[in-house]
Amino acid sequence: MAVTEQLFQHDAYLRRCETQVVELLPEGVVLDSTVFYPLGGGQPGDTGVLRAHDGREWRVVGARKGEGGRVVHPLAGDLPPPAVGEQVEAIIDWDRRHAHMRMHSCLHLLGSVLRYGVTGGQITAEKSRLDFDTQEEIDPVRVTDAVNALIAADHQLRSSWITDEELDRQPELIRTMSVQPPRGAGRIRLLEIPGVDLQPCGGTHVASTGEIGPVAVTKVENKGRHNRRVYIAFA
Ligand SMILES: [Zn+2]
Repeated sequence: MAVTEQLFQHDAYLRRCETQVVELLPEGVVLDSTVFYPLGGGQPGDTGVLRAHDGREWRVVGARKGEGGRVVHPLAGDLPPPAVGEQVEAIIDWDRRHAHMRMHSCLHLLGSVLRYGVTGGQITAEKSRLDFDTQEEIDPVRVTDAVNALIAADHQLRSSWITDEELDRQPELIRTMSVQPPRGAGRIRLLEIPGVDLQPCGGTHVASTGEIGPVAVTKVENKGRHNRRVYIAFA
């Protein structure tokens, strides 16, 4: 089965890898292993290129999850895709991905400052938002200061793995109501910022919070009785 080894789960700082085409689908190319993060958990799929040894190059317009653990790489342009079995170099657009890593890590801090249930979220390279299940008023200045204090403290981020059964015994770990952690693979990745946050998360993160840089809450929207939408951007 064409399960793709997802190298970013173990090292989010990998920008490229040598890999092999294992399957061609109408929607894109499946690789044996990849550095491309597929759209999920509010984080966009990576863009970049696939490069063959003879110089042919394809633009990857946003990796997606396929069935059965596949990562699908949709290609732009008219060039015929690489052949099954062909060796290619997979290279992500690093500046965009690094911004996603910074933003994504920042949302963990935002969620630790506002300890309400999370009902949704969206990450881009410029700004992000989280939706909270609360009726309380949220002060953007206070939240900005609290998140920037956590960034300035340069906390480490660590990942570890637990089994589905271990997670079932600790339901309090799941704070995101709309995005359940992916199950069925037998194990789930936990993201921990010691003393700050601990939750299941399959996204890509920076090594320590100082790398995020200063941020600001730009807007708080009232989206109904149980929903406060908080926007945050790089300052
Ligand atoms: Zn995360």
